[in-house]
Amino acid sequence: MRRKSITGRWLVNGVGVIILVLVGLVVAGTMALRYVYYESVSAALYEYADTTSGTFSVYLSDSSYDWTTASREFLANFRDRSQVEVQVLDADGNVQMTSTGFVPDANLRADWDAATSSNDGYGLWNGRYSSGERVMSLVTLIRQDDAVPGGLRVVVSLRLVDRQILVISGILIALAMLILFFVMLSSSYFVSSIINPVKEIGRGARTIATGNYRHRIPKRDNDEIGDLCDTINYMAGEIGKAEELKNDFISSISHELRTPLTAIKGWSETLSQIGDSNPDLTKRGLQVIADETDRLSDLVEELLDFSRLQGGRLAVRSERFDVIAELEETVLLYRPRAERENIRLYYVETEDIPPLMGDKDRIRQVFINIMDNAVKYASEGASIRVEAARVGGTVQIVISDTGIGISEEDLQHIKEKFYRVNKNGSIPGSGIGLALADEVVRLHGGRLEIDSTLGKGTAVTVTLPIPTDADK
Ligand code: ADP
Repeated sequence: MRRKSITGRWLVNGVGVIILVLVGLVVAGTMALRYVYYESVSAALYEYADTTSGTFSVYLSDSSYDWTTASREFLANFRDRSQVEVQVLDADGNVQMTSTGFVPDANLRADWDAATSSNDGYGLWNGRYSSGERVMSLVTLIRQDDAVPGGLRVVVSLRLVDRQILVISGILIALAMLILFFVMLSSSYFVSSIINPVKEIGRGARTIATGNYRHRIPKRDNDEIGDLCDTINYMAGEIGKAEELKNDFISSISHELRTPLTAIKGWSETLSQIGDSNPDLTKRGLQVIADETDRLSDLVEELLDFSRLQGGRLAVRSERFDVIAELEETVLLYRPRAERENIRLYYVETEDIPPLMGDKDRIRQVFINIMDNAVKYASEGASIRVEAARVGGTVQIVISDTGIGISEEDLQHIKEKFYRVNKNGSIPGSGIGLALADEVVRLHGGRLEIDSTLGKGTAVTVTLPIPTDADK
């Protein structure tokens, strides 16, 4: 498709229309001007013809003059010959005498014909002499005793009037050009104020597209284009953050994989060296290898779950299960580790909890993820408290710790995938535990909420709905 430019569109749609309007205005203005001028000339001509024919009639009424002598006398005393020409016409409309004395234009008969066919005895004509000069003429029929012995023709040149009209329309054209010039000037400024930033945005967006997410498009004005800059910058920032999170994720996952792999490799080498000589050490080594393999497969499982979650393929069974049993199992699972790490683990037993509907394995995974974090981020000597309660139509499970806590700013992102507070820190993690837990709870129609104060501790509340027929 042919590329269209904004400037081209502006020239056609904006400037083109303005030029058309201006040309129309100038043409209409000139025509109106001409009409007004010619009207006033003809009005003056009628008035003048009336006085002139009046004067001529006075000569004619003198009984001692016949038509020819009266005409001669009248023309001899005519004063305005420099401005107008007066001709005396005979009964057939032919010129008998003129005030200039020159041979009149033979073509001029239209006004006479008009005068004879009209009721009032006037005939106006407006045209060119054969010399090319534009004139206006008015014939007045002279009546004497009900007969028409001839007429008078008054002729004025329109040269001056035409020149005047030309000058004024010249001024109109100049004015139109001036207007056009200012319109072009102001709108070319306007168009370039759009085109230049758009070009700049295009360049900026291309730079961002090459992976330079730190690049920011400078915002010039606080208008729609400025908003666009803001949006693109925001987008670049968000993509950059996502990219960073992904990179962090890859590095922490690599780290997660490396630790068990190192242990497995180390122990397998040790075992192959010692042979059967030390059964106790062999047993311990095999145990470590088994544990680390479990850790690896857990991690792989978590990653698989996560990719299923991303693809919307996370399957959740729906069957009746005892949520308290899953919670207790999680507590049991973590008790030895808590003791080892000198963390007090309290479990508040509850009875009045009905069975829930859902996937018990996934719910246990949620508890494990939360508990794992509580232990992982607990400081030495901290305590963890696990309790469940029935609140209205829901079961609330709260796992709280007096660990390191989370800052308010991090708390907003904590449930996002790959998000980790202490990215390069010593504590291993992938940043997907909470994201996964949140999604699983959501799929069960529940909520996962996190309350935390930096340095004080964290409380994670899982709220799950009790099915309406649970107590039956
Ligand atoms: P990770 O695998 O890093 O633990 P999670 O999604 O489970 O990923 O948790 C995300 C981040 O939330 C963790 O990196 C940690 O900084 C913070 N976090 C989660 N639980 C706690 C807690 N109980 N105390 C302090 N920080 C926590």
